[in-house]
Amino acid sequence: MKNRLGSERLVIATHNAGKLKEISALLAPFGLECISAGALGLPEPEETGTTFVENALIKAHSAAQSAQLPALADDSGLSVTALGGRPGVYTADWAQRQSFEGEPGRDWYMAMGKVEGMLQALGPDAERSCWFSCVLAIAWPDGTCVTYEGRVDGTVVWPPRGDRGFGYDPVFQPLGRDETFAQIDPEEKHSMSHRADAFAKLVAEQFGD
Ligand code: IMP
Repeated sequence: MKNRLGSERLVIATHNAGKLKEISALLAPFGLECISAGALGLPEPEETGTTFVENALIKAHSAAQSAQLPALADDSGLSVTALGGRPGVYTADWAQRQSFEGEPGRDWYMAMGKVEGMLQALGPDAERSCWFSCVLAIAWPDGTCVTYEGRVDGTVVWPPRGDRGFGYDPVFQPLGRDETFAQIDPEEKHSMSHRADAFAKLVAEQFGD
């Protein structure tokens, strides 16, 4: 197996334990030592970009500079055709809710309801196509970088169905299926997701023959 990273160690630029686990598992066959940004105590940069690519690069460059090692970051979200691609890079923000204690919390049901409300406001014949995007960015300490984009197309359904996924999974029905991502076996979802698509491109370029 080839390794074009130029390093046996790779920083996973996420403070999200779920993403770290998923990314480490995907990279396990390549014999890399994956170190999380959290374990290194790296700062979490503000995601000020207006595209998935910009945000993934902000996170990857920040970690690569701080750790002086190659770093991998991802950014993802849901885009709805009839909403001009929204929520897009603001996918997580649409779930932001202030709790009574003033602590921000995430409310995915509220976020899915917001998407549905905007579609219903467009009328009963509103176009319901949508897609999940994932951008993976690798940055090196010398400032060079690469990005890989993955995508899975589907339809926004209502009401939400299933309890196996996270985020917007209960309203995302991939093309050609009758179940939502939250009803599909997680192993299968991971093999057909936007993240899997982006990873396949990364693996082919960085570790392929
Ligand atoms: P970020 O990439 O951490 O900025 O978060 C993007 C947001 O998009 C997540 O918090 C999820 O709500 C949503 N999202 C990304 N991928 C998926 C997925 O596979 N299923 C459901 N929601 C997702």
